[in-house]
Amino acid sequence: MNIHEYQAKQILGKYGVTVPRGQISFTPAEAEEAAKGFLGEQDSGVCVVKAQIHAGGRGKAGGVKLSKSREEAKAFATELLGKVLVTHQTGPAGKEVKKVLVEEGCQIERELYLGVVIDRSTQRVAIMASSEGGVEIEEVAARSPEKILKEFVDPAVGLVPFQARKLAFGLGLDKKLVGKAVKFMAALYNAFVSSDCSMAEINPLVVTKGGDIMALDAKISFDDNALFRHKDIEGLRDLDEEDPKEVEASRFGLNYISLDGSVGCMVNGAGLAMATMDMIKLFGGSPANFLDVGGGANKEQVAAAFKLIMSDANVKAVLVNIFGGIMRCDIIAEGIIAAAKEVGISVPLVVRLQGTNVEQGRKLLADSGLDIIAAENMDSAAEKVVAAAAKAG
Ligand code: GDP
Ligand code: MN
Repeated sequence: MNIHEYQAKQILGKYGVTVPRGQISFTPAEAEEAAKGFLGEQDSGVCVVKAQIHAGGRGKAGGVKLSKSREEAKAFATELLGKVLVTHQTGPAGKEVKKVLVEEGCQIERELYLGVVIDRSTQRVAIMASSEGGVEIEEVAARSPEKILKEFVDPAVGLVPFQARKLAFGLGLDKKLVGKAVKFMAALYNAFVSSDCSMAEINPLVVTKGGDIMALDAKISFDDNALFRHKDIEGLRDLDEEDPKEVEASRFGLNYISLDGSVGCMVNGAGLAMATMDMIKLFGGSPANFLDVGGGANKEQVAAAFKLIMSDANVKAVLVNIFGGIMRCDIIAEGIIAAAKEVGISVPLVVRLQGTNVEQGRKLLADSGLDIIAAENMDSAAEKVVAAAAKAG
């Protein structure tokens, strides 16, 4: 699960990570009020108005604006609120800005990068630091990987000060700043572990002209499987920022991920779903989604899954590939029939059923009067659906 920058900064702040003072604003008037709080009656200094969307690259896309007066802050908030911001991370459709973060401005001396991730190969938390802050870390990794410093933390011991010092010196920080950097990293590591994060990225981490170290931006993701331990964090979920189809799927307990191909897939079991996607690729097609209805789905879940796939405008043909183990094929057939009667079948539908109660399932489908292309095995199913999608697309 991802959260907004302002929420990430609130969490990090609680753990002692230095962040700028800020105020979330939903209207231009609120932004003006917040700016007044930072600039004072005389409008002295600068404040920053930042679009809050779950995507980076806002700076380049015009989503981060410096303002010298409360009127200017209000004008920027008016411009940003309701605007669809397109950054290199949002995709071409962009994201609508529904709130802005107004922050106290700071004088930047240097922009650095600090990231914390879980490294699967070492089974440790990895801390990455780079002097190349403010730019995409993927770019740095591709262009000059030697500029990314890494330390791996032993979970039993935690981040040891010497590791943090090594990173701080590696960043070329002045001796006077090393202590602050070590404290910053310790607080960030503590926040990461205590909140069950899967990723925390501070880009840029800035050194201010006043000699402070501060998180100017913050991006945090949490391990979904640990959210039950953090009800407060779960409450920060912003459904507006998520794919509506994925939200709908999670309501029904379906594992669904949108992809950009044209063949809609309804499969039970993650392994079979992956294999089905591979088969579609093998026959020259491309899947529109990953959908695992689970081992013991009921009729309602199957119907919800079917509607979800049919509602995707990119879907040119659908493949239902079910192996009835715990799941019975007749239940699947009933779900498909119920959903198809309700929403209609607008694109070619290929069904391959095998396993428990397969005969009843096939008979139900055959007697339903629905326009279904039956397939006996997986490769013929994939071949048929790819052909149908190509013809329709
Ligand atoms: P992102 O583009 O979505 O990653 O948004 P960031 O929060 O990283 O902001 C982009 C850039 O805006 C930063 O790299 C800074 O250069 C600039 N910026 C953000 N906040 C401030 C600030 O308080 N003062 C100044 N001078 N620049 C800022
Ligand atoms: Mn950033």
